[in-house]
Amino acid sequence: MGGLGSGRRKDRARKTVESHLTLDVNLLSEKGCLRPGCSSTCQWIVSNEVVSINLRAEAERLSLSYNVQVGNGERQDIAETIPIVRLRCRFGGSRAYFICPGPGSGTDCGRRIAKLHLSRRYFLCRRCNHLAYASQYEQPRQRALRRVNKLRERLGIGVGIAEPLPDKPKGMWARTYGCLLNEILQAEILANEAQANRFKRLLAQVDNDLQADRPKGRRC
Ligand SMILES: [Zn+2]
Repeated sequence: MGGLGSGRRKDRARKTVESHLTLDVNLLSEKGCLRPGCSSTCQWIVSNEVVSINLRAEAERLSLSYNVQVGNGERQDIAETIPIVRLRCRFGGSRAYFICPGPGSGTDCGRRIAKLHLSRRYFLCRRCNHLAYASQYEQPRQRALRRVNKLRERLGIGVGIAEPLPDKPKGMWARTYGCLLNEILQAEILANEAQANRFKRLLAQVDNDLQADRPKGRRC
């Protein structure tokens, strides 16, 4: 039986925000799950299994209950309470934030935050869980290509350099179209430069290895 915390050893080793279950206060607010008295369930698919947590909202907090697999493989029922604050927006209305219940360095964390991530037993902020964003691990070329793909999607075309750039889409301002083309060009130049630099490093490495393997006194 899987469930929360199981089947995720590989993901956990990567320690990125994206590989952990996330509670988004804005999403919960949109769906009405933060209304005092509301009981709801959040579900995810992890390793082909549905895992869920139960939520119960009160005026200034959200109570969670779920079951996780802990380090030694045993399962444990967890009850967690997350304080919620609502701040007035500049143009009216209010916006909800979680207050991270995690322990910081010597004191409680208390960060006002929109997203909490499950690592080990509890939903805590990214810093308390020591999680990085996946993009922080990306190589320069991957980062540039991701940027290219994102920009291409804005022009309504699929990812990949092979697909030709379209004419200006109907309804798009010429200036916006021009800016997008320019940004795609710059990102593609960066990606190509990063690729060329990698080739150079690999070739230099091969050259070094060949030098090291070559018997002394012989030249080719
Ligand atoms: Zn925290």
